Amino acid sequence: MNRTIKKNWIDTQERIEKANPDGKEITVIAVTKTHGTEVIEKALALGLREIGENKAQEFVEKYELLESRKKDVHWHMIGHLQRNKVKYVVGKTKLIHSLDSMRLAKEIEKRGESEGLTVDTLLQVNAAKEDAKYGIFLEDARSFLKNIESFKHLKIRGLMTMAPYYDDPEKTRECFRKLKNLFEDLKKEDYNNVSMEYLSMGMSNDYEVAIEEGSNMIRLGRTLFGERPKLKK
Ligand SMILES: *Cc1c(COP(=O)(O)O)cnc(C)c1O
Repeated sequence: MNRTIKKNWIDTQERIEKANPDGKEITVIAVTKTHGTEVIEKALALGLREIGENKAQEFVEKYELLESRKKDVHWHMIGHLQRNKVKYVVGKTKLIHSLDSMRLAKEIEKRGESEGLTVDTLLQVNAAKEDAKYGIFLEDARSFLKNIESFKHLKIRGLMTMAPYYDDPEKTRECFRKLKNLFEDLKKEDYNNVSMEYLSMGMSNDYEVAIEEGSNMIRLGRTLFGERPKLKK
């Protein structure tokens, strides 16, 4: 298992390099959802420190189990976050990738205020307007950013998207390109509490296309750790 993860990581790094001939800095989030903390330890042993989880409950359990490793792990919340779970997450994550509604933004702001901290987030954009996906539409991004200008405990440090799933990753290119264009446009505009630093796009099946289209943060699960164990109901 350990050897397999190591081999997967070596292969993945080669593929990233090929997609990124200029050698731009790309942050890899190791997505360990459904796996136990031993898999996180393996990732850490390979030098992967950015760890992504998609469920608040599961995240908190692992966070507590790895409390002693606090300095070594940078946690990323990448999945939809319910407002009543915000309290479990704020103060523990480096970045919440899934800011997908104004109601959630307000809840994070409130929690940040009560804990006396500033919460770093990415605005999740549903670039392909899929019904089943969370996130705001591209054309609503600016009004969203305007609305959080008065906040004191929340920062938006970039954009995140999940492309639709296609067997042929080439089909995701359009979606990634749209988000990159928005990212570059917003970079030139000036909003309080907003900086366009991170463009989080690309998963196991489409990360090379995402990198070619300008992603600087990819979220990888299966390509590193294999197929996920089936969830028990
Ligand atoms: C699970 C997940 C990933 C990783 O998916 P893989 O296909 O395993 O690479 C990335 N982003 C989000 C939001 C996820 O929930």
